[in-house]
Amino acid sequence: MSGVAGLVVAACSRAGTVSTQAGAVDAADAFADAEARSWSEDQWKERLDAASFRVLRKAATERPFTSPLNEEKRAGLFHCKGCDLPLFDAATKYDSRTGWPSFFDVIKENIGTTTDYKIGYPRTEYHCARCLGHQGHVFPDGPRPTGLRYCNNGLALTFVPA
Ligand SMILES: [Zn+2]
Repeated sequence: MSGVAGLVVAACSRAGTVSTQAGAVDAADAFADAEARSWSEDQWKERLDAASFRVLRKAATERPFTSPLNEEKRAGLFHCKGCDLPLFDAATKYDSRTGWPSFFDVIKENIGTTTDYKIGYPRTEYHCARCLGHQGHVFPDGPRPTGLRYCNNGLALTFVPA
């Protein structure tokens, strides 16, 4: 798991500003990494609605074609609903026809990954690097230029228009 630890360390040590296609975003923080990770399950339940809690903290998957963010087409950034860290630029969003908000790229320094076997074969799970909230899975069937599809739960994101 050294790769995951490395990503988290990189996220902790970066400066508070993240450059994206939408410009510099101030990611300096509603709270520090250590604080987000110290919250108890009860504190997370107070902070999140029940459905978002199940996705972010229990790695549940929302039903496809249920997220209003599927239809979101404005310029802006998609933030982690758990801790408000920006994870995706809207310029990388595309319609994958899967029923989940999908992106071909991610703000890499703001996520970590693991491998899970929940449905019998390995998948790459990714999560917010700051609060460690589960976001979705990444698959190698996306469009150019990355060829990747970040298949995200809409319940784990908030949209911030540019
Ligand atoms: Zn987060």
